[in-house]
Amino acid sequence: MNPTPRDPDSATPTEVVAIDGPSGAGKSTVARLLAGELGFAYLDTGAMYRAVTWHFLQEGCAPGVCAGDADRGAERMRRALAGARLELRAGRVLLNGRDVTPHLRVREVESQVSAVSALPFVRIAMRDLQRAVAAQGPIVCEGRDMGSVVFPNARWKVYLDAAPGERARRRSHDFERQGRQVSTTDVLDEILVRDRLDSTRSDAPLRQAADALYVDTTGLTTEAVVGRLLDFVRNSSSDELRRAR
Ligand code: C5P
Repeated sequence: MNPTPRDPDSATPTEVVAIDGPSGAGKSTVARLLAGELGFAYLDTGAMYRAVTWHFLQEGCAPGVCAGDADRGAERMRRALAGARLELRAGRVLLNGRDVTPHLRVREVESQVSAVSALPFVRIAMRDLQRAVAAQGPIVCEGRDMGSVVFPNARWKVYLDAAPGERARRRSHDFERQGRQVSTTDVLDEILVRDRLDSTRSDAPLRQAADALYVDTTGLTTEAVVGRLLDFVRNSSSDELRRAR
């Protein structure tokens, strides 16, 4: 690949593949494989929000816990966040030096993460961390606001989508692999709630960036999606794609 010059109008680097989309669209698997193929680092930003949520739960100040006293709850969350050192290393998430990866997909975290990620002070802290990671070298990152907010100058932007039923089936299979039995109907309900909260919040809602490549992964294998994105990265930039439309 040709090296890309830094965008002089922005502090954020452009050597970024920014992948956004709703829950269960296959972003994590695809982004990890794509990063491996390209030799880029991989950044799972959902894991960052999950780790912060788990931390707030541990500190007894997650939104659902402190709902009775919102002001005090917010102050406690701010303090807890200030005391949290988040590191992402080789697919693991460390919080104040402790590997919290096994806790990121537990039910309590799933049910609170959208409320936590709607908090502007949490988003600012995560955005700064994500940009600091990207400043170290090329990355493939995935989340909800990568192309729209965190990396508006990313060279490649992708929006991955899939039919809700398929997204729920994929998530159920993930849970089965982890030894958890959750019905597809329950998973569907849960992801629809999360999608609604993520796309209606006022700060950095889930949204397709205007210059993102839209890929509907319904019925496609992981290999097919990764192949499609590899072609996209190797043969075009989002600007070229937009011009071609
Ligand atoms: O992608 P994942 O399901 O792990 O994300 C968990 C939650 O983290 C999302 O439902 C969303 O609330 C939040 N998130 C976000 N912005 C991102 C990534 C995740 O708000 N960039």
